[in-house]
Amino acid sequence: MAGIVLRDLKKVYADGAEAVKGISLDIRDGEFIVLVGPSGCGKSTLLRMVAGLETVSDGEVRIGERLVNTVEPADRDIAMVFQNYALYPHMTVYDNLAYGLRNRKTPKAEIEARVGEAARMLEITPYLQRKPKALSGGQRQRVAMGRAIVRKPSVFLFDEPLSNLDARLRVTMRGEIKRLQKRLGTTSLYVTHDQLEAMTLADRLVVLNGGRIEQIGTPLEIYHEP
Ligand code: ADP
Ligand code: ADP
Repeated sequence: MAGIVLRDLKKVYADGAEAVKGISLDIRDGEFIVLVGPSGCGKSTLLRMVAGLETVSDGEVRIGERLVNTVEPADRDIAMVFQNYALYPHMTVYDNLAYGLRNRKTPKAEIEARVGEAARMLEITPYLQRKPKALSGGQRQRVAMGRAIVRKPSVFLFDEPLSNLDARLRVTMRGEIKRLQKRLGTTSLYVTHDQLEAMTLADRLVVLNGGRIEQIGTPLEIYHEP
């Protein structure tokens, strides 16, 4: 478990686009932060800098005590869930879940235990031997979530994880994520366009605009101001 600290974080892309213009934020250990704001306001860029997938132009990202930019990708204690699932199509669900653990040389018995537990939590045990193409969209999204959970990371990063699902499934999966959050209490940063997702999931909402923080508050403070 770990909190996240952002200090005057900036991103200028090679073409000169200033995507993030100085963001400072303290995310508490176990807190669920939802990032909202219009398209192009810098949400994905911010998330990718926290993940260490994008270089930081200026400022700091700390996870726990560590500066993210000094940590090798394989050692980062972060798991990310994307909207396009990013599952390996040629692997079974079991192997998709086990992949990251095998890469980290986790003992086989430990892998089986963790995959089994995540599969039960997400109710995908019956599909462990299937390939992703034999799953529904909701089942695939559960596998993507499972792949993040088995790692037992200190931080979850979600980039619009439900936006490819139909409305009914989004409601179901929103509830699933809420349930997992209560159970696991993992520090999370979650990007969405969906106001209901934001209201349901957020401990605090961060509203971005033009690469800056426009507002921070609980869902009640943000959405029910007179
Ligand atoms: P959001 O996720 O809120 O839609 P992004 O972080 O994707 O916003 O983009 C923020 C700004 O940075 C936009 O103006 C976008 O065009 C620009 N941008 C994003 N990625 C790149 C890139 N790889 N190269 C140059 N500009 C980029
Ligand atoms: P090895 O690495 O020795 O080849 P694996 O542990 O990778 O064996 O498993 C081989 C296959 O069996 C994988 O495709 C995986 O889907 C399946 N498998 C392994 N362990 C389990 C398990 N506990 N539950 C369900 N399927 C499993």
